[in-house]
Amino acid sequence: MMRWLWIAVAAMYSVSIQAGLPAPKVEKITERVYALLGPVGLPDKKNQGYMVNSTVIIGEHGVILIDTGFNDEIGAHIKQVITTLTPKPVTHIINTHHHGDHSLGNSAFPGAQVLSTQKCKELLESDGYMWIDIIQNVLERKFPNTKLVPASDTFAAGSTTDRVIDGVKLRFIVPLGSHTPGDMMIVLLDEKTLIAGDIVVQNMAPSFRDAHVKHWIATLDQIAALDVKTIIPGHGPVMLPKQVPEMRKRMSDLYAAVEAGYKKGLTDSEIRKTLDLSEWRDMVSFEQLMGININRTFLEIEQDNF
Ligand SMILES: [Zn+2]
Repeated sequence: MMRWLWIAVAAMYSVSIQAGLPAPKVEKITERVYALLGPVGLPDKKNQGYMVNSTVIIGEHGVILIDTGFNDEIGAHIKQVITTLTPKPVTHIINTHHHGDHSLGNSAFPGAQVLSTQKCKELLESDGYMWIDIIQNVLERKFPNTKLVPASDTFAAGSTTDRVIDGVKLRFIVPLGSHTPGDMMIVLLDEKTLIAGDIVVQNMAPSFRDAHVKHWIATLDQIAALDVKTIIPGHGPVMLPKQVPEMRKRMSDLYAAVEAGYKKGLTDSEIRKTLDLSEWRDMVSFEQLMGININRTFLEIEQDNF
């Protein structure tokens, strides 16, 4: 009797954990491509760490999943959402970069082949445990089943590679390190859709913590020249290519203003007081991210002028 009661309680507990995760907004891009839009924001107890966009591409025999969530539970949650779209299993995972919210859910898909840039693989191997610590600290519980699953199939710096995977034509573009040194962008050639990772974000402040801002601005120019009609950003709603120049302008204006302050001999906190941040202020996580962003921009300019 006690044993059955315990099983019933355990079952309820696992259901309630799944139920605690917010549902993504599922946006159909084409018959076989869906964007799973997670909540927009930094990880917290309310979103349970689920705050990333994923892309589901249904191939002939299986699913190609781009970006997998911050831990194995979120990966399992995404997997469950995929079962409402197709009975096919996830056979391939692509990580746009190594940050935990995009890569730690890989552990929920044993047997899937993982693809990323070579640099992303190296960064996941060196920094992945720090990202597990970050999510464990935010949620104040352990995720013993969240393991690092780096790519077995990697793309070299500066490369552009066309590949057909399970009947889907993909172009893998490795830009100059922008949001991180290990970024990758993926174009679905038949769908004219770009999956940009966090190089493009909408409504949320971009994070510069591992960024190279000048390269990032150049990559946004590269995106503007791509033949695509839809962009799935790393965070925020699905975008049109014509929205990218707005993000580019905000970033280049910020860079120019920080550089002007640097050339006047100001410190980064003095520069911050001179900046017009009105175009950033309404973004989710502005308060948490902009101090770091300005500091990172300052350090980059200092290094380039050394
Ligand atoms: Zn990121």
